[in-house]
Amino acid sequence: MTTKDLADLIFPNITKTVADYEAMYPERNLKEGAKVTRYAPSPTGFMHIGNFMSATIDYVMAKQNNGVFYLRNEDTDSAREIEGAVEYIRHVLQHYNMNPDEYEYRDTQEIKGEYGPYIQSERKEIYHAFIKHLIIEGKAYPCFLTQEEMDSIREAQTKDKRRIGIYGRYAKYRNLTPDEAAERIKNGEKYTIRLKSTGDFNRKFKFNDLANGEMEFPENDIDIPIMKSSNLLPTYHFAHLVDDHLMRTTHVVRGQEWISSIPIHYELFKTFGFKMPKYIHTPLILKKDGDKIRKISKRLDPEARMTYYEEKGYPIYSVIEAIMTIANSNYEQWREGHPDAPFTDFDFSPKKMSSSGALFDLDKLDNISKNYLSKLKATEVFNLLDTWSSEYDKDFNNLINKYKDYTISVLNIEREQKKPRKDYASLSEIKGQIWYMYDELFTDVTYNFDSKYSKEDINEVLTSYFNDYYNEEDDKDTWFNKMKELTDKLGYCSNMKEYKENPSKYKGSVADISNIIRVSITTLTQTPDLYIILKLLGKSRIKERLSKIK
Ligand code: GLU
Repeated sequence: MTTKDLADLIFPNITKTVADYEAMYPERNLKEGAKVTRYAPSPTGFMHIGNFMSATIDYVMAKQNNGVFYLRNEDTDSAREIEGAVEYIRHVLQHYNMNPDEYEYRDTQEIKGEYGPYIQSERKEIYHAFIKHLIIEGKAYPCFLTQEEMDSIREAQTKDKRRIGIYGRYAKYRNLTPDEAAERIKNGEKYTIRLKSTGDFNRKFKFNDLANGEMEFPENDIDIPIMKSSNLLPTYHFAHLVDDHLMRTTHVVRGQEWISSIPIHYELFKTFGFKMPKYIHTPLILKKDGDKIRKISKRLDPEARMTYYEEKGYPIYSVIEAIMTIANSNYEQWREGHPDAPFTDFDFSPKKMSSSGALFDLDKLDNISKNYLSKLKATEVFNLLDTWSSEYDKDFNNLINKYKDYTISVLNIEREQKKPRKDYASLSEIKGQIWYMYDELFTDVTYNFDSKYSKEDINEVLTSYFNDYYNEEDDKDTWFNKMKELTDKLGYCSNMKEYKENPSKYKGSVADISNIIRVSITTLTQTPDLYIILKLLGKSRIKERLSKIK
């Protein structure tokens, strides 16, 4: 029996060869410098910020030179698959306008692109053809180690402080003859397929990672499993080789945790004689925790999950900016020079990534976001708020739509001017800052009057101001002058300088007067421009509010 006979015994129905697939998925016809990147999540968990950083880098690199960004669903681990994970990944990419050029969605049966299927569990035949090829060539073999045997090998290796894995003398079945292997298979023995490694652990090779620079690794000498016996699907390593080769990926962007797999991937590509794609291993995302800096954790940190940003209502611009800022050390500087350019114009350079970890800081995100939101037009903020609240705060959504023009005017207070206010970083913060402009929300209120004002003082100011001075029609200067007139009339001081020089001479200053008015209308001691607030509320609503105080 030959290795070909053994391969036919294992894969009787596989007739296509590696060469056939090479022909079916030829080199892509792209212009020089165009990159082909992929986001290749396993649907075993919900997208976290590290995944998002990888996807963003994939997207930027592909968009820079009219390349291709595709989505591949790595679903070979069916036992760990989480319902809704794929849909969520698609949702996030859509939400951030980073739609892949090629993809496949099982639920809607959409597929786009010539290099699919893009779902690994649908590529079984392709993988089998590649595995069959290796068996024929004597570069892979069926291994009959039982779970118990492997456990005891591992135990012994741990005890003797040896490297863990099936290599050298532990690779008990690598030298079976095809006849011996075939007999066991015919007897119904369970097996996995392993690579027959030709590496030498004592030999080193150099590997250039675009982000981390040149690295040196010992060769792989482990006979890694390439096909799982449970579902006959390949292991991650083998699927990576086949897919990234056939899909003609030029750049693999993936998390740091895969660096240790480089020797395996290096050997796999060499075994087939395929050119390796370029690799960019993205840094770990870190966060400050008190005095310490530690890895961001999905378990401990809500901001590690992508759901956080949508729930809070961070604009997509802000989140992408915050990620790009930590992904590339010169991004911020570029942004200063190109304030209005789309982030895809940035010339992303893997060399400018930090290999020691990327510090993600929510304050920084808030800053970016406050700036961004402050520069939008009121109607734009309204639209964002409308979309966000329709999902996360339906009551508020009804309210802002019931009073749409009014809400836009409220959002416009101290906006669309040279130095706009920077009150909120996310859409979920807006309600807490403008609630008092809605009578529906102005119920059960507590007034923050300073205790230094007596009830009589307050009454006197309010009665006098709203009966004798306040006129809705007044322009801002007249309004302010009247406020000063009232101040002086009631024995307060309208000139702050004079007041400070001699405070005991007065009942208070103009600041006290405006403070009393502000609190009576809004309950708050600090708000944006009181003149506009009063104007927007209008006389009858003001009256209504005043009647509640007494
Ligand atoms: N499915 C792997 C993961 O989710 C992909 C790693 C890669 O991008 O190659 O970690």
